[in-house]
Amino acid sequence: MAAKPLPQPTELTAPYWRAAAEGRLALQHCRGCGRWIHFPEPRCAECGSDEFDWDTVSGRGTVATFSVVHRSFVAGFDGEPYVIAWIDLPEQPGLRVFGNVTGCAPDAVRIGMAVELWFERRGDIAMPNFRMTERGEQE
Ligand SMILES: [Zn+2]
Repeated sequence: MAAKPLPQPTELTAPYWRAAAEGRLALQHCRGCGRWIHFPEPRCAECGSDEFDWDTVSGRGTVATFSVVHRSFVAGFDGEPYVIAWIDLPEQPGLRVFGNVTGCAPDAVRIGMAVELWFERRGDIAMPNFRMTERGEQE
């Protein structure tokens, strides 16, 4: 069985992966206009600033949209069926992160479902994933 490929941090994404290894979801936060940015960008598309902080978000969110993978064609991505999803974060309208939704049957995942962050350790890398919160579905 092939090993699941690991992300390769770049200069731009290294702060994200360093924070993840510490158990924090830290996103680019523009010093110029205060906009949260994800995925990382060299410049803020809003104000053009290239100065950022990497600030920790709550790790709570809701499922914006998702797919259930029944058959993967990429070596190492086994364990089907599994769920990949865009997660809306409360820190800013339209701010989304990508991850697996775990801990429940794939057919239990719903758009709008409240989820919380957890990290899956793989060697030096910690992968952000999400699972249903205690309160489950939101209003
Ligand atoms: Zn900005």
